[in-house]
Amino acid sequence: MSLTREQKRRRQRIRANITGLMILAGAMAAGALLGAGTAYSITEPQEPAKATFRPVVVQTSIEAQEPELVSIGTFTAYAYCPCETCCGQWSGGPTASGVMPEEGRTVAADWDVLPAGTEIYIDGIGWRTVEDTGGAIRGDTIDIFFESHEEAAAFGVQKVELYQKK
Ligand SMILES: [Zn+2]
Repeated sequence: MSLTREQKRRRQRIRANITGLMILAGAMAAGALLGAGTAYSITEPQEPAKATFRPVVVQTSIEAQEPELVSIGTFTAYAYCPCETCCGQWSGGPTASGVMPEEGRTVAADWDVLPAGTEIYIDGIGWRTVEDTGGAIRGDTIDIFFESHEEAAAFGVQKVELYQKK
């Protein structure tokens, strides 16, 4: 859930930047028409103009960009943490893809089913990225990363529906 909000915030920033660029481009075009004497004023009106237009652009663009999700089936979800009980010799190390695991992002899967880098939406849990794999993770099985063993143990084993962007 927090990932989704973060993505939205990122989009807002990107939209805001694009708006700013458009205004800047407009100001530059106007400046070019008026001649070199007005060049100093290009940056002056930019700030208030940005603040005025930002809310309108953000509202429409987020609605249009909401991704459509398609179910890829019900999976058995386990949970793990960096401890020796969960990871054995790989305890504390990077994921199979090379990046360090992070709660809220990392999930392990069978790379023949969900290749490394696949973004999945786990119903009731949120967006995760396939970054890890393991000998016991086969077929329609995933392993969700948590920072603490307590959290992983509390999650237990659950049947979850998985989705991908269309
Ligand atoms: Zn553990």
